[in-house]
Amino acid sequence: MASQVPLFSSKIANEGVDLAGALNRVVDSNWYVLGSEVAAFESEFAAYLGSKTCVSLANGTDALEIALRSLGIGPRKRVALVANAGFYGSTAVHAVGGEPRYVDIDAATLTMSPAALRGALVAGIDAIIVTHLYGQMADIEAIAALAADFRVPLIEDCAQSHGAMRDGVRAGSVGDIGCFSFYPTKNLGAIGDGGALVTNDAELGERARRLRQYGWSKKYHVTEAGGRNSRLDELQAAVLREKLPKLDGWNAQRRAIAARYAAAFADLPVQLPALAASGNEYGNDYVAHLFVIRVQDRAAFVASMAAAGIATDIHYPVPDHRQSAYTGSVNVSLPVTEAAAGTVVTLPCFPGLDDESVERVIAAVRGHFAGR
Ligand SMILES: *Cc1c(COP(=O)(O)O)cnc(C)c1O
Repeated sequence: MASQVPLFSSKIANEGVDLAGALNRVVDSNWYVLGSEVAAFESEFAAYLGSKTCVSLANGTDALEIALRSLGIGPRKRVALVANAGFYGSTAVHAVGGEPRYVDIDAATLTMSPAALRGALVAGIDAIIVTHLYGQMADIEAIAALAADFRVPLIEDCAQSHGAMRDGVRAGSVGDIGCFSFYPTKNLGAIGDGGALVTNDAELGERARRLRQYGWSKKYHVTEAGGRNSRLDELQAAVLREKLPKLDGWNAQRRAIAARYAAAFADLPVQLPALAASGNEYGNDYVAHLFVIRVQDRAAFVASMAAAGIATDIHYPVPDHRQSAYTGSVNVSLPVTEAAAGTVVTLPCFPGLDDESVERVIAAVRGHFAGR
C-alpha cells in the first residue's frame, strides 16, 4: 500500500524556499525582535494587499484581539461573527470582554449571510468580524455596505484567504482592519507562529502598533491602555519575505487541485465548494485553503478515506455557540451553521501535492460512492 496522502505537508509545501538563507541572514544580523526584516515584511505585505499599513503580530488570534482593541471594542460590546470558523474570532471577542452575537451563514459559500447580518445589526451591533473561510471570500461587498449603512466597524478575518481577490481587491483591504495568521499550514505560513493586521487608517495602525508593545508610544512611555506583547520576530519575518513572492503561484496550484476535484466529483452526492458566481469555475476569490465538501453519511465517508490512506479532517466539528466553555449563546439557533457542522469534511489540497496523490484522492472518493 502506498504511503498515506497527508492533509498538509510543510516539507512538500516549502519545497524550493530558501529557509536556511533567511534564517542565517537574521542570525548573522544579531538582531532578533522588531528590526529590518519585520519592517521590510510589513511594507511588502501591505503593498501586496494594497493596504496602507501593516502591523505584524505574534499570531492571528492576537491580530483579531488587537483589531478589536484598536477599534475601542471592550467589555459588553456586541460583536457580530459566524459560529463555523473555528472559534478564533470568539476567542478574541471574549479576550476583550465583548459579547459574541452569532450570525448564520450562507448555505452555498458557508460564509456570513448578509441577510442574517442585517437582522443582527437591526438588533444592535458594535463591530463585525467577517471570516473568509476555507479560502473563499465572503460576500464582502454586501457586508461592507451594511457595515457602512449602520456605521459599524468591519474586521476581516483573512487567516484562510491570503491573496484572495475579487474585482482587483484583495481580502483584508476592504474592511477597517484585515487580520492574518501565518501559522505554518496557512496559505502564507511561517515556520512557527505569526500574524499581522492591515489597515488604511493611519490612526488605527498607530494604535495597533502601540498595543502590540505594552501600549508604548515610545520606549517606556505607556500611552495606550490594554497593551500587550505581541510581536512577530525577525526569523519569521525573514521566512515570510522569502515566501510572499511565491504566494500567488501557490494559490494557483491550490485552485487547480480544487478544480480537478470539483470536475471529478460533479456527479456525486456531495456538496462542493461554491463556484464563482460569474462562470462555472473557481475564481481568484477562492484560494482553496481547505477543500471542504459536505457529505450526508460523514462517518462512513471518513472511514472509507482512512481505509484508502487518505487523510481527512473536520473544520469544524463544534460550532462556537455550542462550545462547552461558554454557555452564553447556547440558546442561539443557527440552522445552516449546525447542519454544516454535521456534514463538512476536508480533503488534501495544498501546493506541491502531486498528480498521483490527487488521483488517489479522486479514486478513493469515487470508490466510496460507487454502488451506493
Ligand atoms: C488559523 C486561524 C486563526 C488564528 O490564527 P493563529 O495564528 O493560529 O492564532 C484565526 N482565524 C481563522 C479563520 C483561522 O483559520
